[in-house]
Amino acid sequence: MVGRILKGIGGFYYVKTEAGILECRARGKFRKQRISPLPGDMVEVFETEPGKGSVETILPRRNSLIRPPIANLDRAFLVMAAARPEPVLLLIDKIIAVCENNEIDPVVMINKCDIADGEPVAEIYRRAGFQTLCVSAETGEGMAEIRAMIEGKVCAFTGNSGVGKSSILNSLDIGADFAVGAVSERIERGRHTTRHVELVEACGGFIADTPGFGDVGLEKFQMIRKEELESCFREFAPYENRCKYTGCAHVKEQGCAIRAAVEAGEIPVSRYESYVYMYNEVKDYKEWENR
Ligand code: GDP
Ligand code: ZN
Repeated sequence: MVGRILKGIGGFYYVKTEAGILECRARGKFRKQRISPLPGDMVEVFETEPGKGSVETILPRRNSLIRPPIANLDRAFLVMAAARPEPVLLLIDKIIAVCENNEIDPVVMINKCDIADGEPVAEIYRRAGFQTLCVSAETGEGMAEIRAMIEGKVCAFTGNSGVGKSSILNSLDIGADFAVGAVSERIERGRHTTRHVELVEACGGFIADTPGFGDVGLEKFQMIRKEELESCFREFAPYENRCKYTGCAHVKEQGCAIRAAVEAGEIPVSRYESYVYMYNEVKDYKEWENR
């Protein structure tokens, strides 16, 4: 039987199958192969007794992240607030790069559009080629669009604390108590216990309850090699191979087509600044530091 892992706790995996949710142990071979089943994984399970089983095979993953630990994420909603707190574009751009590098579809979401105009920031991301939504958990604006975008997908909500992730999940009215989960997670994190990810069925898809995806740290971001970084900025694509020098890093070089495009207003300045910042972070990074 094939199913999807919703969560793993204390050596048990909870797998949603056509026979309901099975509580499963993983076969020992995974440990020998040094692979651990992750929430989001599609797996073959063998039902040992009603409600119980074992994970036999992990089906090929389209992607997997280490922090948060999740597999097969289709879409990430990158939440920021139009104001209170002010948007931190570098943080959003880092998460976008991680998404692009893992074939996760990033959707830029500007919440709290009832108290400030989200349009200036929305415009930056729309121009850069991203799906962008201006919403308000307070008034309900945009909630129907979000619901439609969850259908058939495994999704996560990310963003700094205070931007309104819990409020949005609550106003989606999906019956799951994310706010409570978030609070207990904060307490757990304070005690340094491991955080786990749980997939919750909602709106015809799954929402990953992933506290901590908001602060995608340097270590996660550094999984991107400097050669890969430019491909994580989709608005750079039309200028590929147009720079004067092959191997141009688009930072200080003469005859750089990317820099010319920024000056011409074709690439948003803040996006380019994020690129340069990230490039400087990863340029001296050694492959082995990843291990
Ligand atoms: P989280 O940390 O990202 O989960 O953010 P919360 O959902 O806890 O929201 C943080 C604060 O912002 C709370 O005081 C919410 O009431 C407020 N808030 C959330 N969404 C909105 C919104 O759309 N408009 C306004 N005005 N306030 C909001
Ligand atoms: Zn260049």
